[in-house]
Amino acid sequence: MTEERVRVIGGGFAGSEAAIALSNLGVPVLLIERRPDEKLFHFNNSGNFAYPVCSNSFKSVQMQNGHGLLKAELSVMRSSLLKHARKSRVKAGKALAVDRDEFSLLVTRDISNRKNIVVERRVADEDDLKGRAIIATGPFTSENILECIKNLAGQKHYSFIDSVSPILLAESVNMEKCFTASRYNEGNDYINCPMTKDEFNVFYDELLKAERSGYDETDKEEFFSGCMPFEEVARYGRRALVFGIMKPVGFDKKYYAVVQLRRENREGTMLNMVGFQTRLKWGEQERIVRMIPGLEKAEILRYGVMHKNPYVDSPSVLNENLEFKNRKNLYLAGQLTGSEGYMEATLTGIYVALSVFSKIKKREMTLPPETTMSGSLLRYLLKSEKKINPMNANFGLLKDYSKKNKLFYAKRALKDIWEWYNERTL
Ligand SMILES: Cc1cc2nc3c(=O)[nH]c(=O)nc-3n(C[C@H](O)[C@H](O)[C@H](O)COP(=O)(O)OP(=O)(O)OC[C@H]3O[C@@H](n4cnc5c(N)ncnc54)[C@H](O)[C@@H]3O)c2cc1C
Repeated sequence: MTEERVRVIGGGFAGSEAAIALSNLGVPVLLIERRPDEKLFHFNNSGNFAYPVCSNSFKSVQMQNGHGLLKAELSVMRSSLLKHARKSRVKAGKALAVDRDEFSLLVTRDISNRKNIVVERRVADEDDLKGRAIIATGPFTSENILECIKNLAGQKHYSFIDSVSPILLAESVNMEKCFTASRYNEGNDYINCPMTKDEFNVFYDELLKAERSGYDETDKEEFFSGCMPFEEVARYGRRALVFGIMKPVGFDKKYYAVVQLRRENREGTMLNMVGFQTRLKWGEQERIVRMIPGLEKAEILRYGVMHKNPYVDSPSVLNENLEFKNRKNLYLAGQLTGSEGYMEATLTGIYVALSVFSKIKKREMTLPPETTMSGSLLRYLLKSEKKINPMNANFGLLKDYSKKNKLFYAKRALKDIWEWYNERTL
């Protein structure tokens, strides 16, 4: 094996997974990470790797769900981040949610303990892109690297808007008005704040009047549908939230609407407002959140905020191996490729590591089979004929998919990804 050190720029989800996967394959890595960085304080400035900036949920683990199948495939591909996520799991029903500090500490320790990974804490620049390098700088890409990416991509780059939910101090929640339960009697993992119709209507009217920050009519087209601020969802109609994040289904008693709170940490001292990503002004967030029964005195530990995320038109900018078409040995991974979500970024991290490894070994690299979730998502990102939109794992992407027998498709996918992965890592 050559001794060339591969530069991985960015120690987030894609970069951390890529660095560890390369290390496992015996390839030496130089990992450059800008954090801790004062400019990013609101989105975490701990300096630990792979810090989940918004929700602490990595979504479903059920194989009949696109996110669950992606996790099962990542597990076959020995994803280290998934392993650490399982170790730092907090109770969240059928979802894999993590204690975010513990999770990113485990990833950081894993990286720090590896002799073939050198870590540098600084903002990478254009010189770092020379030689063999992977750009995995994600939504918080520094201006200088973003400029390089734009130059390489020509006109083919876009952006979309993501936002984060508030986190509450658990002891400030009035449990006399709330109850613990997961939907459909599947445990007691969530705290639920029920609302009557009258309470909801007052809440809704005030929500529509609440002041949003950085609001611009043209933003609407840029929201990622899976992460739309709840005040924007509310604008689709009075009952939009009741059919969405506030749906009252799966409980023993009837309610008009229910707000769910999920543990942020193992101790349960912090709670995440499920689906309440927002860009309301901070004072307004407090006012609106406190209109929810049980949250009248809620203390917000971290406010919701929004962020504009850049990505490139991967089919025209990258080849099948996530390598820039116009710059040999320079690769792109993570959110910048148009993937959306923690586990999706993790997938691109493993895939780019295998691509680099194959190139070093002078072997051909092919996409995972189109019968797999990984292969389907990567195909969408790299082979689409139309402009790509931010995409996360879902069954609709799978080849020949029919709703009737999800388990059949899932089992086939696992068998196929197993064969593909073993061939790539021999
Ligand atoms: C506001 C917001 C909310 C989100 N909510 C969710 C959610 O609820 N669920 C979900 O699944 N996904 C969510 N996402 C998406 C999620 O952040 C990404 O899918 C995932 O983190 C992308 O992984 P990545 O590796 O591409 O980037 P990141 O995980 O962000 O990692 C990139 C790393 O590169 C570093 N970096 C940047 N520039 C440089 C440089 N020049 N030199 C060195 N280091 C650099 C950054 O500091 C960062 O650590 C959200 C994103 C945002 C912005």
